[in-house]
Amino acid sequence: MKILIKNGYCLSEKEGVFDILIDGKTIQRIEKNIVENADETIDAKESIVLPFFCNAHTHLAMSLFRGMADDLSLMDWLNNHIFPNEAKYVNKDMVYTCSKLSMLEMIRSGTGCFMDMYFFEEEVAKAALEIGIKGIIGEGILDFPTPGAKSADEAISKTLSLKKEFANENIKVSFAPHSTYTLSVESLMKIANVKEDAIVQTHAGETKKEVEIVLKDKGKRPIEVLNDAGLIDSKTYLAHCVETSAKDMEIIKSKNSNVINVPQSNLKLASGVAPIYEMMMKNINIFVGTDGAASNNNQDIIEELRTMSLIQKVTSDNEKALNAKETFDIATNTPFENSGILKEGFDADIAIIKLDSFESVPIFNPYSYIAYAANSRDVATVIIGGKIILKDREFVNIDEEKVKCEVKNLAKKLGALF
Ligand SMILES: [Zn+2]
Repeated sequence: MKILIKNGYCLSEKEGVFDILIDGKTIQRIEKNIVENADETIDAKESIVLPFFCNAHTHLAMSLFRGMADDLSLMDWLNNHIFPNEAKYVNKDMVYTCSKLSMLEMIRSGTGCFMDMYFFEEEVAKAALEIGIKGIIGEGILDFPTPGAKSADEAISKTLSLKKEFANENIKVSFAPHSTYTLSVESLMKIANVKEDAIVQTHAGETKKEVEIVLKDKGKRPIEVLNDAGLIDSKTYLAHCVETSAKDMEIIKSKNSNVINVPQSNLKLASGVAPIYEMMMKNINIFVGTDGAASNNNQDIIEELRTMSLIQKVTSDNEKALNAKETFDIATNTPFENSGILKEGFDADIAIIKLDSFESVPIFNPYSYIAYAANSRDVATVIIGGKIILKDREFVNIDEEKVKCEVKNLAKKLGALF
């Protein structure tokens, strides 16, 4: 199928008004005035055409717990609210249905790919394949029984079978050790021994308390524990890194590893602010994620990128950090190859923002508009791997009301009002 996007203001290698011709899953041409018999033509006049956003840290199925336990510290929230409710309510159906809701919510804000860590990740993969979103899935590995596996060993072997069953160009299967406070060094080393070239995603340095627990228990900080276990390299994605020492940064930098900033969740759980501008200045690769809807409480990446930029201005020692373009670059950074930039030969992974809102008048700089003025309602169209998933603010072939209704019915069992 050929799609022609006409007259959009493209944020790509070439910035300005161009046409984009998509053939199959690939961007074939980015030029002015392309004349081609396409199957579908999108009028992008008065629109910004950009690479879609990547939500690099989430727990999609936690949409069920949105707003159920707020205004708590991380450990109280986890131990007294999240873990007990997960034991009770998380099952295959719940993960499938609630992940779908989050996927639609993400697409609505221009997100076309995600990195998820939860339980029953085969259901996340199924939902993602059905909806057409790209994703990196990871079965949560913990030393205690989870809804998805009885032990760390079982979660590790489950990850290996997920890889066999689901890994394709749109779904990547990662190892997802939960953290250094929920796993022993032995379990971490087991993962390092079997992971080969797979992506590893984990929580690290989320709070001061976590670092204290790990220091007491293992004699080292979380990043050092992971590094000594053989789990820090260029395929490792470290979510949070709020508590990051100079030595931690040195390890991350020397191993060419990746940091995922999760600003709103860190603020809401009073965890702190990750020094990501400092890390960026050290050339550490940065991504942004929302975290699950139980700690955020939404999957809106445009809100998230704004928060990321604003808090760096008051917490880093540079009041100009992160500028609008740097913010945009982080929010469109993706672990998928041939994505994250509008470029001939790259995947057609595209969002189109329609400039018909009050906040889009006037625009002097498109990056400034996205970083400081836009909101998810401005996103009109999302194309993932050459497929139109959202068009003119409507989902194509997806019954969004049905998904909302299914999650509402589940939430009623937990006492939700609506
Ligand atoms: Zn998380």
